[in-house]
Amino acid sequence: MNQYQNILVAIDFSDEGLHVARKAQALAQMFQASLHVIHVLDNIPMPGMPYGTIISLAETTADALLEAEKNKLIQICEQLDIAPDRRWMVWGETQQEITELATAQHIDLIIVGSHGRHGLGVLVGSTAKGILYHAHCDVLSIHL
Ligand code: AMP
Repeated sequence: MNQYQNILVAIDFSDEGLHVARKAQALAQMFQASLHVIHVLDNIPMPGMPYGTIISLAETTADALLEAEKNKLIQICEQLDIAPDRRWMVWGETQQEITELATAQHIDLIIVGSHGRHGLGVLVGSTAKGILYHAHCDVLSIHL
């Protein structure tokens, strides 16, 4: 079996997010793969900005909500020791942005939680299912 080289973990800032991220980190270490982290901004309005826009984590804006989201991502990435060029915040539709970034960054494994902010209503959450359907690489769902 080929080893994974580029792993992308999708983080939604739910209570279980860090657990998913830590599992991804352990797998990345096991495969000696590069670990990327993505959070898709899907919950605050970004007027006039097209879907797919990558939000800079280095630049500060006047938008307090956006800055709070950025800080959450930066904090998780610091805890996991993720290099700044592998931290992604993208404005748009979650499944689409995750799978598009995965293709652009030559990701060979996407890791998601089985559930997140959308809760435990179904066996596997809607986001995980959507990613599985659209991704061009392997997808691992961490059972929560
Ligand atoms: P859900 O189906 O929305 O309950 O979430 C399932 C999993 O999808 C979460 O555990 C995350 O791994 C991922 N996910 C959900 N929303 C986002 C988001 N906005 N950005 C990145 N990953 C997400």
